[in-house]
Amino acid sequence: MRIFCVANQKGGVGKTTTTVNLAAGLAQVGQRVLVVDLDPQGNATMGSGIDKRSLDPSVYDVLLGSATVAETARESPKTGYRVLGANRELAGAEVELVGLEQRERRLKNALATVKSDYDFVLIDCPPSLSLLTLNGLVSAHGVIVPMQCEYFALEGLSDLVNTIKQVHANLNRELEIIGLLRVMFDPRITLQQQVSEQLKAHFGAKVFDTVIPRNVRLAEAPSYGQPGVTFDPSSKGAQAFVEFAREVVQRLK
Ligand code: ADP
Ligand code: MG
Repeated sequence: MRIFCVANQKGGVGKTTTTVNLAAGLAQVGQRVLVVDLDPQGNATMGSGIDKRSLDPSVYDVLLGSATVAETARESPKTGYRVLGANRELAGAEVELVGLEQRERRLKNALATVKSDYDFVLIDCPPSLSLLTLNGLVSAHGVIVPMQCEYFALEGLSDLVNTIKQVHANLNRELEIIGLLRVMFDPRITLQQQVSEQLKAHFGAKVFDTVIPRNVRLAEAPSYGQPGVTFDPSSKGAQAFVEFAREVVQRLK
């Protein structure tokens, strides 16, 4: 079982879209996938067709130790993957975890109980470098960083890269950046091409070959409770994410 965090401390950069579409893409190529929603906004949960208001238990209970992963994971109806769902209750976990033993290893320990049930676990992180994100980073073998090719993109990356280095040094020797994924890309915008070139110059092979275009079907899909990959398989965005899933599987070989 490979565990990846989808992280970037900025909001609105495409973390959730990447998580659910990569999960659907991996499921489509025959992988057993669990999505862990670590964002109290519950967007990955809703975007997988699971009502965040009806969750009982949720990932909150898993972190606090009152429910197991096996009894909490729910089937996402149209996608073929499973989800540990989140809702606003999870915001409270941040405070409640502080008093607990092994507070940054709660998720890691919980996921260890399902290691033969899944090929991939994808953790959708909140837009912060909080204790929740830390639980994700401590659990993971690697981080996938979605990013838009905009002017401050590289600057914003340094905080995340430093956090990953610290977690690697102190809490999780396995953690590495699997790759940077260029998302919402519009090749007609010269600046985006320039930033994309800078990224490749700076991070080399850590930049995934697949590029996710800006595509309205990917943005529409969540309101239908599914990822773009299943909502409109023939769309450019869906095809790019299936290609990305193949690239991820290929990279691990
Ligand atoms: P985050 O989880 O980092 O906050 P989201 O995945 O929720 O970011 O994406 C932010 C917004 O951008 C959402 O409305 C989403 O539907 C939209 N979006 C994400 N990726 C694309 C894309 N490739 N093309 C068009 N819209 C996108
Ligand atoms: Mg999100």
